[in-house]
Amino acid sequence: RTAARSDPQPLDDSMVCVRDATEHNLRGVDVDIPRDRLVAFTGVSGSGKSSLAFGTIFSASQQRYLESISPYARRLIDQGPAPRVGEISGLPPAVALRQTYGGASSRSTVGTVSRVSNVLRMLYSRAGTYPAGRGPEELAGTFPRDAAPLDSDAFSPNTAVGACPTCHGLGRLHVVDESTLVGDEDLSIRDGAVAAWPHGWARGNYRDILAALGIDVDVPFRELPQATRDWLLLTEEHPTVKVHPDRGEDYDGWYMGTYTSPRSWVLHAFGTTKSAAMRAKAAAFLSDEPCPTCQGRRLNPEALAVTIAGENIATANALPLSQLAAFLESARTHPHTQALPTARRQAAEALIGGLLSQLGNLVDLGLGYLAVGRTTATLSGGELQRLHLATQMRSGLFGVLYVLDEPSAGLHPADTATLLTALERLRAAGNSVFVVEHNPQVIEAADWIVDLGPGAGRYGGEVLYNGPAHDITTAKDSVTARYLAAHTPEAPHPAVARTARGWLDLRGVAGHNLQGVDARFPLGVLTAVTGVSGSGKSTLVERALADTVRTHLRVDPAADEEEDASDLGRGATGPTEPDDEGAWAPDEDLVTVAEASGLEQIDRLVSVDQKPIGRTPRSNLATYTGLFDSVRKLYAAQPEAKRRRYTASRFSFNVAAGRCPACLGDGVVSIEMLFLPTETAACPVCEGGRYNPDTLAVTVKDKTIADVLAMTVEEAEEFFADLPAAARILTLLKDIGLGYLTLGQSATTLSGGEAQRIKLVSELHRAPRGHTLYLLDEPTSGLHPADVDRLVAQLQKLVDAGNTVVVVEHDLRTIAAADHLIDLGPGAGHEGGRIIATGTPEDVAETDTPTARYLSPYLTGA
Ligand code: ADP
Ligand code: ADP
Ligand code: ZN
Ligand code: ZN
Repeated sequence: RTAARSDPQPLDDSMVCVRDATEHNLRGVDVDIPRDRLVAFTGVSGSGKSSLAFGTIFSASQQRYLESISPYARRLIDQGPAPRVGEISGLPPAVALRQTYGGASSRSTVGTVSRVSNVLRMLYSRAGTYPAGRGPEELAGTFPRDAAPLDSDAFSPNTAVGACPTCHGLGRLHVVDESTLVGDEDLSIRDGAVAAWPHGWARGNYRDILAALGIDVDVPFRELPQATRDWLLLTEEHPTVKVHPDRGEDYDGWYMGTYTSPRSWVLHAFGTTKSAAMRAKAAAFLSDEPCPTCQGRRLNPEALAVTIAGENIATANALPLSQLAAFLESARTHPHTQALPTARRQAAEALIGGLLSQLGNLVDLGLGYLAVGRTTATLSGGELQRLHLATQMRSGLFGVLYVLDEPSAGLHPADTATLLTALERLRAAGNSVFVVEHNPQVIEAADWIVDLGPGAGRYGGEVLYNGPAHDITTAKDSVTARYLAAHTPEAPHPAVARTARGWLDLRGVAGHNLQGVDARFPLGVLTAVTGVSGSGKSTLVERALADTVRTHLRVDPAADEEEDASDLGRGATGPTEPDDEGAWAPDEDLVTVAEASGLEQIDRLVSVDQKPIGRTPRSNLATYTGLFDSVRKLYAAQPEAKRRRYTASRFSFNVAAGRCPACLGDGVVSIEMLFLPTETAACPVCEGGRYNPDTLAVTVKDKTIADVLAMTVEEAEEFFADLPAAARILTLLKDIGLGYLTLGQSATTLSGGEAQRIKLVSELHRAPRGHTLYLLDEPTSGLHPADVDRLVAQLQKLVDAGNTVVVVEHDLRTIAAADHLIDLGPGAGHEGGRIIATGTPEDVAETDTPTARYLSPYLTGA
């Protein structure tokens, strides 16, 4: 808790009162939760925290808002079905901030989402220093007094007035690579010297036109005069001539043909074709270069000539947020700013003040290392959520209920402390802040706890504790209480201390904020890569390590001679140098490794992330793990199936013969209602069973295949005890804490943590041969400490079986259970990117890195 917190108001009747909530697994939950407080929803994964906080409370608030707008407008909003709840009272308007992965196609940036870019543009237009003769004062006749000659659009590469005229604001140009246009200079044009022409008739046409123009199409290309070669390859002219096609002696037809040079053809095809194949062919002759006019800065020269404190807007945009704040601080007192006419100087001060307060929010939320121009597609779910949170804080709303999904995900304990300050500020401004959380640091700082459980899925869904945070230790059945107590149980440790069986060395790792780092990964042990967020952990593990191993495994010269075995060599040059004005380097995303050794000790790479395991409701736990294959074979082997000649495929709900014809195997149908949102309901024909009656006539121990999909993992484990292939997977699923999931639950409704553990199980049961390197990015996020223990136990098993596991982690109990740590930092962005400590957790705890400070209490004997 921060010392400065204001005293909460006494608890009067300002409560959110929920009655009879039955969404998903909730068992008629009744709770009264105080408003204007920081409330933590806790419980093991799958216990029903999200179902209550998001599925019920947020959803109901959303529903009320929608009821207040016109039915027409309502249809335009993507809304879910009404939550299953008896009654809710005392509900403020709510804003949900969930973790989502940025869409790859998204064009938004850190600056656009946080609105920093807008204000920065305004600042440049109102308060910039213009080149002599172009400033507002000189142009006073043409513009109203004190108005800027360029409006803020002129500083946006996404507008016609602001964009660089050469590259249209893209910063890069597709240029034809002349050396690729001719395939073989020893061939004549007739024999196919020009590689970059379309095939078929068009190719003959161009050849005949060149012949008609008097060019010799039968000598080797290299023997043509240089001027002729240049002209025919590159000209932008389109001469039209009478062509006598070359079709033998007695043909005397003719037509008018128009010439297009290979260069023009490639540019035209690339720019206009709708065919992906054609575009790909054209792209092979193009290379991508920084735009020569704007050097990748995307803006037109007039906009780039305007400066504040001597720097143009492109330079400001390339700065990390914390450095932008420092720059604006100095701009305030810079002589240029001081010399502005009074009205413009005042505007500058107001805009800079606003920007600094917004940047302060972003820095406080641990995002100071992000560059303004960074695209949101490259951010993690947690970073994106905190970016939205900062934007909300700026809005200055009060009386709002904010519902957040594990806001501490991806945060080092040091960052979590600043997050808590920000949440407290939001609450102190008069808002309610509800967080679904597992992190003890956040739970202990909350005013109030709603603890769900006792188990997951059908074994959960009850409120075990609802009260002030400090009294949770009195809750009897609560697993959460156990982990909050002063001495939390340790995560599973290796039975005996393990030592490296070899080393994988990466030297000269460069990219993002890493500048020539040498990293050594021990083999045959569990390694945790630690450090504050933005220190470079993902860059080192997911990019440098993963890409290097992947390249090595793919480049098997015997198996794949086409692959360029020197691929790694491109790392030797390091990242592209920023241009001389220090603006952003065009290849900001390149990560390279100068030299690697020890790779030959690894046979396989498995990287397990939290991305969804399927985007269609047709994918589920049973299909994804391969478990369903053995189940279908079992059904096809039954005497009744044999009599009916049903094969295993009959038992797939994706196959026409076996599935319900009404819902095509979905089990649900959607109901379109005029003026109302589309609802889904169980299929009236199969009642959600997905199959047709003939398929369901085949049973195993009286259960149909539809019954199997409705079983939980635990029930199925017992049912399939005699089917080893299925039982093995089911046991693993149960051991990792997923015993409560039903086999048929669609992949789209699984949480990130559930999806990640299912992926891990699919790996585990595949009895890996040889030496596998497993990479996991914060595998504990979304997991209750009790679930973390089950996960860590599985990771330890993988290591005991001779494999290497590397996790990027913040969870201190998991870090303490690792054999080896690689600690990055000390700060984020430019203040990080170095390895500041390595060794056993005990070794690292002796140092004075940010990780060490938090880790010590979690070590045995500490
Ligand atoms: P928590 O947030 O505590 O991890 P959830 O509220 O997400 O738990 O889930 C509670 C239970 O409801 C789990 O068994 C989960 O699998 C199930 N569940 C969650 N979302 C859906 C859904 N869209 N459809 C069906 N079941 C769901
Ligand atoms: P961590 O995993 O420790 O949170 P990252 O490796 O994600 O840190 O980031 C390290 C630095 O690299 C940060 O300054 C971050 O902004 C930058 N960075 C990460 N990904 C990209 C990217 N795709 N493009 C540009 N910069 C990036
Ligand atoms: Zn340009
Ligand atoms: Zn049906």
